[in-house]
Amino acid sequence: MCNVCDDKMMARRRFLGLAGMGLVAGSMSLMGGSEAFAAGGPKTTLTADQALAKLKEGNAKFVAGPQLCEADLLNARAKVSHGQAPWATIVGCADSRVPPELVFGGLNVGEIFIARNAGNMVDTATMGTIEYGSGVLGVPLIVVLGHQSCGAVAAACDAVTKGAKYPGSIGPMVKEIIPAVKAVKNMPGDLVDNAVRESAKRTALKIASKSPIISGLVKEGKVKVVAARYDLEKGSVEFLG
Ligand SMILES: [Zn+2]
Repeated sequence: MCNVCDDKMMARRRFLGLAGMGLVAGSMSLMGGSEAFAAGGPKTTLTADQALAKLKEGNAKFVAGPQLCEADLLNARAKVSHGQAPWATIVGCADSRVPPELVFGGLNVGEIFIARNAGNMVDTATMGTIEYGSGVLGVPLIVVLGHQSCGAVAAACDAVTKGAKYPGSIGPMVKEIIPAVKAVKNMPGDLVDNAVRESAKRTALKIASKSPIISGLVKEGKVKVVAARYDLEKGSVEFLG
């Protein structure tokens, strides 16, 4: 393991130690106080802004030198075997080229809570996952991570511009992306890329406004929901305002 990784690991170990001594934040009461829902142990002490800075730092590392770092999986696995304290939830695309742990700098087991599906959309199962992450596990930051050349978004664009139809459950899945495509249809630039950005922003807004649990935590200043776009070529993540 390189020096960069050693430094990073030491910082992470210090962080985990501090987190272990910190107060348990979060909202067990949201889930009726049922301890059965919680994975046990203290929650993260990071704020949403600190979590966002950590993701940005990790992605910068991934862009600059992804080959330099490797996860200390053996130690990390032991540390989280009896509980988890993730500090970010990523709603990402199922696309095999966008694994959240890697694009944010080689994050370890127990660090981020992830829900993935083609097109990074939010259905009931994903919303429940997000609510569990913040409402029970105390995750302060939720990121909707779209990406360059997303096949699901491209399919939605083809449905709008060419009347394309899709079999099975793919059609209804793609249909959910169509409002975002229509919203940017007449904008200059690449339709798929504009729709990727628009869809991620709409999904972030949906999470922050449609879920009573998340909207309550957002109003209390305990949770932030942001949209982002991953660049397949550069490896960089752009957080969308
Ligand atoms: Zn995709």
